[in-house]
Amino acid sequence: MTTKKIALLGSTGSVGRQTLDVVRQFPEQLEIVALAAGSNQSLLSEQIAEFRPRFVSAECDLDVPDDSTIEYGHGVDGLLTAATLPDVDIVVVATSGHAAILPTLRAIEHGKTIALANKEAIVCAGAIIAPEARRRNVEIRPVDSEHSAIWQCLHGLRAGPDVARVTLTASGGPFLNLPLHELAHVSVDQALAHPNWNMGAKITIDSATLMNKGLEVIEAHWLFGLPYEQIAVITHPQSVVHSLVSFQDGSVLAQFGVHDMRLPIQYALTYPERAPAPHLVLDLASLGTLDFQEPDLKRFPSLAIARQAGNAGGTYPAVLSGADEIAVHAFMAGEIGFLEIANIVEAVLDVHTPQYRELTLDVIAEADEWSRRQATTIVRNLRRDI
Ligand code: MG
Repeated sequence: MTTKKIALLGSTGSVGRQTLDVVRQFPEQLEIVALAAGSNQSLLSEQIAEFRPRFVSAECDLDVPDDSTIEYGHGVDGLLTAATLPDVDIVVVATSGHAAILPTLRAIEHGKTIALANKEAIVCAGAIIAPEARRRNVEIRPVDSEHSAIWQCLHGLRAGPDVARVTLTASGGPFLNLPLHELAHVSVDQALAHPNWNMGAKITIDSATLMNKGLEVIEAHWLFGLPYEQIAVITHPQSVVHSLVSFQDGSVLAQFGVHDMRLPIQYALTYPERAPAPHLVLDLASLGTLDFQEPDLKRFPSLAIARQAGNAGGTYPAVLSGADEIAVHAFMAGEIGFLEIANIVEAVLDVHTPQYRELTLDVIAEADEWSRRQATTIVRNLRRDI
């Protein structure tokens, strides 16, 4: 394998740190050329000292020795520079939120392979990003474990006519078997205690509401070019089967693996090769049993709400994503209850006037801002009622 040069956007977050873990395993094959991070000054300084990137984009002052070989940038310009450096082969998009959309699109326009961990880019701007990648023959390699599984089962990024459906697995989160009346009173700490996966706070809350799975349905729609009716979800508490592809002849291919993000990250970086990962070995006999069940849309309405927003298209997915972010942060701040997260998102979607034509990044950003304002107003009114 020739050395692949990597720009890592979001290096101090959960996926960013695990990406660097993978790079550490393969110093001959993987090289960090650029790092971009937010405000975790001490960790970013350590990463710069260890990986010696050529370019760093940071939102904080850095405690690094003067080194004329490293160039620095910040803000949107810094992210865009990192994403488009001439010698970069793969851009790992692991920043959270909307900030990832523009760098992802620019990296595609520069022909960079994308390893996509950020959900907002493809959920909100999939209608722009996916066709652009196809037009330029650029791969958007999924880092999300479910989509990595589908990619592996399909042996590619496009679902052909032989595919009957894909099925995303959902762990069900920490409240899988909790009755509805108890869901109203769960604490932030309980919601943050994911049984299987080690992820950032926002996505962990989204996993507890199943909004994360709803966003992943939209993600699958754009990544694999599948209509929504061909994207199913099944609850699988052990998180060992990461997703399945059903073919027209009735055959079903699934990808199994330990629930560790380093596995899909590594595959996205080493593809088409499979590199050894002796620390990621699955022991099926010790697990014994794997369980599957239908997701309960009564207790977890976010999954249905997200699917509906995806299916409606236009600016609806951006509104879904923006309202969810406000609602999740309000829940984490103790301002609203767990069940109100879905109620708020649904209420904002209900009053949205969608735009379908001339969908630009500006139109999507406007829909996102509108959605956040609406959600914030609802949160404020709810607090007044308490
Ligand atoms: Mg996932």
